[in-house]
Formats: sequence, structure tokens, C-alpha cells
Amino acid sequence: MANATYPLEYLRDFQFLVGNYSFLRIVRDSSDYSLYQSSRLLFENDDFDDYYPTIEKQMSQMAVPVMDSYQILGLEEINLLPSESPFSLQVSLDTKQQMNLQSISDSGLSSKLQQLPISSLEFDNAKSADYFISALGTGFQEIKRSLPVLKKLSLSVSSLRSLQAFSNVIDFPLLEHFELKLSRSTFNIEDEHLNLASLPFWNTALSENILSLSLVNLNYTNLLTNFSIGSTSVFKEVNLFYTLLLHCKIFNDPDASRNVTYVNFCLNSFAALPEFSMNPADYKSAFIVDDYYLKSKSRIFKKLFNFYNCETLIIPDYFFNWKPFIKLQTSSPDKGEFCVANSILDNTDYLFGYCNCPSCVSARKILLRKTEEEGAMGQTQTFYNFIVLLLFGRIPNMECRSQLNFFSNTLQDSVEILGSGYMKSDLAQVFHLILDNLVPDLRVFITRLPRLHELCLGGFLFDIDRSGTNSVSISAPQENWSVRI
Ligand SMILES: [Zn+2]
Repeated sequence: MANATYPLEYLRDFQFLVGNYSFLRIVRDSSDYSLYQSSRLLFENDDFDDYYPTIEKQMSQMAVPVMDSYQILGLEEINLLPSESPFSLQVSLDTKQQMNLQSISDSGLSSKLQQLPISSLEFDNAKSADYFISALGTGFQEIKRSLPVLKKLSLSVSSLRSLQAFSNVIDFPLLEHFELKLSRSTFNIEDEHLNLASLPFWNTALSENILSLSLVNLNYTNLLTNFSIGSTSVFKEVNLFYTLLLHCKIFNDPDASRNVTYVNFCLNSFAALPEFSMNPADYKSAFIVDDYYLKSKSRIFKKLFNFYNCETLIIPDYFFNWKPFIKLQTSSPDKGEFCVANSILDNTDYLFGYCNCPSCVSARKILLRKTEEEGAMGQTQTFYNFIVLLLFGRIPNMECRSQLNFFSNTLQDSVEILGSGYMKSDLAQVFHLILDNLVPDLRVFITRLPRLHELCLGGFLFDIDRSGTNSVSISAPQENWSVRI
């Protein structure tokens, strides 16, 4: 970067793994002639409005190398982006950005954006998406559908209203890869009406063009707790995801979902596993669930299996949001019911009770020993809670990272493993215990989804090899575990 006059024609990737830096800013600042002339830029940021026109002029003359993807930290950086070939854009605006919005001419930005071949657009959070759309909104009303080559969108919104603004800019039915992250702290009664009224939009937007789909509920409060608004409205139409899953074509009509090969499905990003009970008298010590709750869980979970051509399936909240409440089975007396409510909810022993191989027998002894050492009364549930959080910690931050690129990240154990008091070898054995006891679930996944070859449950990654004639081989390479089904 020292020689700013030499073209960076072979550079394709430039990443800052830590810190709030952006490649675009470095290019801008290192080619900014005024930096060499005086120290004004460095010391007089409070006079930004005065010299913004000068910077704007300089920026328009600047050449940024052509790369596959860019990240912008400020909206004005859109002016730096080259228009030669399609690229991905990550929008990571901060709250201070809002203060600068007045300095930027709306029409200039929106017409610039219209010339850019943005093929993938990703927002770090709902605020970035809100600022982006409100800054460009006025200009965009005249320039409808301004991103003609956009195929991939990862959108974070806090309400349906901001989504509607995006539908003025983006031709949703042309999208092939779509992620919706919903972050909200409250539910309003009128949301039910809005959610149901938005169904025609969703049925058009989530068309048969969709190849990859990701739904992430960024709930910042615990949904597995009594009396919280989140937990009481989770199975009501006031919850957009519930409305979509229940009524939207793509989740219910095999024709509408036939092209979907990639699904990420996380309806609870607050990893917690309380005690459960079906007895309302236990409300002080346990999360109370009823028949309706359990049946709704299995009814919603079953929707996943409508994506019968799915090749990649990711369920980050599997071990705390689904597994304790549902039971997957390949054969049952009532035919076809492969996913039912867990009738022995107050007993998590079933999670570990399937396999009796020597390794599982010995791993259960580790559990017993740990439980005795800790003097805990919760038996396996305390331990299960710990493991679930540990595995969930492997999943990259769902707020800032798009889950449409899940397998481009390496899943790693968090540092908590070090201070846990468990020997690494003990943990490996307990992981094998959980994996061995997951076999009935895995059997359901591979038989119901005949093309599935990549699966993530909690933080376990599975490769599914169907090349054998009579059996399917499933392996979890990170755990050095495999099974033939
Ligand atoms: Zn076993």
C-alpha cells in the first residue's frame, strides 16, 4: 500500500480479521493527496461538512482495484466501488454513520448504486439495513428495482416495515439465495395482521428461483422461559416466522420448494436449556410446556422435511430448541409420524439412552462421576446443558455472518472448553455418546431427505456419503466419528 501509484491488479482478497478497518478506506486514505499536504484530515474531523465536497471529488477520481467482494463501513464509500465486474457487498454501517447522512447527496448515491453490478448484498445488522434504505430511499422511489444483477441477499430487519422499503429497491422474485434475520424485542398485536397481509409478497418473493434459504431469529431474550413475550407468542401469527412456516407456499407446497438445496433454520439464537416440566406447579423451577407447545414444535419442525431436494441442512439450535421437545423415528405404530412430541419431556435420559456399546457405557460413567463431583441434582440435564452451549459456541456469530456461507467458516471449539474441568479425552468420549445416540435422528434425516450430503446439528458437522450400494455412511470428521446406516 506504500506505493499508491502502482496498480493492485493481482490483488483479489484483503481481509482485516480484527479491528474496524476497511480496505476501501485504506485505498482512499493512502491515495488522498491532501493527507500528504497537511494534517487537516487527521485533526479537524469536526469540520467534515466543509471539506466533504473536496473529498467527494477526489473519491470520484480514485481507482479501487477490482475484487470479488467489498465491505463498506460508511455509505459514502459506495462512490469508491468499481463497476467493471459483479461483486459482493457487505454493508457494516455504524451508528455514527447516521450523523453523516445529511452530508451525502441522496440522488448521487442512488444513481451510483444503480450502475454497480452488485450480485450479493449482505447487512451486518438491522441498523445497517435501516440506515442504508433510509439514506437511499428518496432517490430509489424514482429508480425502482435498482439492483438488476442481485442474486443473493442477506437481510437483517427489525420489522416488516423496513422489509417493505427494500421491496422498492430489490426485485425479490429474481433472488436465488435469500436470508432473513429478524431481530425484535417486542411483539405488537397489530403484527398479526401485518404478517398475514404480507403473505402474497412472500409467496412471490420466495419463488421457485430460490436455491438457498436461511431463516434466523435473532432473539436477544430467552425463549425457553415462562411468561416472556417471546416465549408466549412464538407459536402465534404475531411471530412472522410462525406465519411464514404455517402459510407460505415454500414451506408447504413441494412444487414451490423443489429447487431449494440449501437450508439454514435457526428459530432461537439464545442458547439456554432450563429444566422442563408439564406441571404448572413447577413454574418456579422449570420452563412449563403444554401439549399445544409440544405439538407445535413437532408440527413446525416437520416443515423442514418438505425441502425434499435439500443437500445442505443447518440447524444451529437443534440441541436446545428442538431435540428435547420432539422425537424423530423411522417406524412407528401410527404410520408416517416420523416426528412426534416427546412424551417424556421431563426426562432427558432418553437423549443418551439409545446406544449400549462399551464406549457409551463408559461415557455414562463419566457423566455420573461428574454429576457426583459437582453434587448436582439435575443429573444429566446439567451436563447436557453444558455440552449444548459448548457445541453452539462453535457456530459463527449469526448476527454478523451470513448463514448462507456457513461452510466457508471453520467451526472451532470455544475457549470455555479449557476451564470446564473436563479432560479433553472425557469430552471426546461424551461427544461420541451424544453422536451414537443421535443415530435414530440421523436415520430420519437421510431417509426423508434423499439428497442430503452436508448436515449441521448444533455444532456437529456431518458428511453423508451415499456412494455405497446398501448403506449410507455418515461421518463427523471433527469428532473422528462415523456410522454406517
Ligand atoms: Zn455407543
